[in-house]
Amino acid sequence: MQENNTKNNPYFSHTDHTKLNVSNDEWKKILDPELYAISREAHTERPGTGKYNNFDGLGEYYCAVCGNHLFRSDSKFSSSCGWPSFFQAEKEGVIYKRDSAFGMERTEVLCKRCESHLGHVFNDGPRPTGTRFCMNSISLDFVADENKETV
Ligand SMILES: [Zn+2]
Repeated sequence: MQENNTKNNPYFSHTDHTKLNVSNDEWKKILDPELYAISREAHTERPGTGKYNNFDGLGEYYCAVCGNHLFRSDSKFSSSCGWPSFFQAEKEGVIYKRDSAFGMERTEVLCKRCESHLGHVFNDGPRPTGTRFCMNSISLDFVADENKETV
């Protein structure tokens, strides 16, 4: 189910952690319109529609824009919010930004490598962290453990 967004994307890499500085004009040429809208314009996919919402495969989640490692499947939990939810992100995976759009005080989660919008983080998650990363499926690229590259 993968590779749809990554074929024509020269920046996509699971191993290169160099911070990217790519303009939105450039991303617009590379990314699917749906992914562009969410990752670069902070849109949100409709709840309950994402391919990873009710999904519990074992593997790794990467940024769909740049390939940066974001989450491991064992930090994913079932939440009823309608979006894939995680209680912990990879240390080098994400950065946070204050978001007061729509009259709400929220914390936006961005990919640390490409600074694409991923979703929001809330403090009503399960133990041990109490954190709930509420992500857009479109922003995530899942690689099952059995398909892991050996490079
Ligand atoms: Zn990224």
